[in-house]
Amino acid sequence: MDSKKVSDIRVACRRCDECGIRTGVKSEDDDLCILQCSLCGKEYPFYKSPPEDRPLPAMKEKGNMLSAHNTYDTIIVGGGPGGLSAGIYSMRAAMKTILIEKGAPGGQMAINKGIENYPGFIDINGFELSERFLQHAKWYGLEILQEEAMAIEPGIEFHSVRLANGRTLNAHAIILAPGGISRSLGVPGEAENLGRGVSYCATCDGFFFAGKPVAVVGGGDTALEEALYLSKIAAEVHLIHRREEFRAGRILQQRISMEPKIKVMPNTVVTNIISDGNGVSSIIVKNGREVESELHVEGIFIFVGFAPNRKLVPAGVKISAGGFVLTDETCESSISGIFAIGDLRQKYANQIVVAASDGCISALAAARCVEMRKAGFTSCKLAA
Ligand code: NAP
Repeated sequence: MDSKKVSDIRVACRRCDECGIRTGVKSEDDDLCILQCSLCGKEYPFYKSPPEDRPLPAMKEKGNMLSAHNTYDTIIVGGGPGGLSAGIYSMRAAMKTILIEKGAPGGQMAINKGIENYPGFIDINGFELSERFLQHAKWYGLEILQEEAMAIEPGIEFHSVRLANGRTLNAHAIILAPGGISRSLGVPGEAENLGRGVSYCATCDGFFFAGKPVAVVGGGDTALEEALYLSKIAAEVHLIHRREEFRAGRILQQRISMEPKIKVMPNTVVTNIISDGNGVSSIIVKNGREVESELHVEGIFIFVGFAPNRKLVPAGVKISAGGFVLTDETCESSISGIFAIGDLRQKYANQIVVAASDGCISALAAARCVEMRKAGFTSCKLAA
């Protein structure tokens, strides 16, 4: 059995229930992957598809048969909750569909330790929910290609996706679901100490700061969730927020106030990250009265929001002032047949359930669009 790549281990990490630290993927085959705690060595066999959920042979074959072609009805780029939901609905609409994902399926959702607001699950590990989405999509025979999409080229009859391996795939409709990328603070010492005390993922890197003081920057749901996670590992967590009020939900704020290891520092910004040559040794913070002081921390976790990943958005697609793709109610962008969903799309709330909903709407609208484009229509936009 082959070992998994390091990038995949980061995504696949889970907590060992004995040591409370992360586990990495040791090996995998088609149906079983084993997570192993890197401290105590305890192994967790993880069945990708429980027997009752395993794909029917006919479904598997259907998916494999499609890979011989370069032309699809619908191409989905991105394998997070939005992309996988789009895959499920697209297959159910009998569209010839392929999903392209360069990393592990699940996206940002996969590294979330506890998801408490996805309907039907009071608390579920993000990795497990990702696996459920994946198995559901695979059950319908969705073809999944692990490859990087480099560019989208809009066309009259077909839109095209250029892949890193030089291949080009064509489709009548493309659903873009590339998610977002972590925003940085842009302060001195941040880029230089990435991986040496500066992190954007507590689940991935928290273990390295066991018993050490750390800082968490941000006031949204992510920052507060990650601060709570780190409080179980680190000696103390300084939660630094630039305003008085948190943006995060009330439940998280209540939990933060009840956690003695978390010291909240409102109206405070980080101005510098200092290294002793081996990694982060302290940070400089400035309070609301413009007074600077040095704070001893060995790790700084930055959660100041996500920027939409617009790398693949073709020229001509309309973008909001905040940098998100503007869509109509079907998630179709200003270019007919190109859809944008999840964190890429301008909308009120960025939640897993909303991304999944976008996946459903876009796939159904794309199916209609495919039929129209096949019939010779150049636009499949719904009448206003
Ligand atoms: P977010 O809600 O956009 O919050 C970003 C936080 O970073 C804000 O508090 C913001 O401060 C602060 N910030 C932004 N730029 C900064 C800078 N340059 N310096 C210092 N602070 C800065 O981002 P998020 O927490 O990553 O959440 C993203 C979306 O995912 C949200 O819609 C969120 O609700 C959702 N989410 C939901 C859950 C959940 O439901 N359990 C979990 C995670 C994320 P200000 O408040 O002053 O603007």
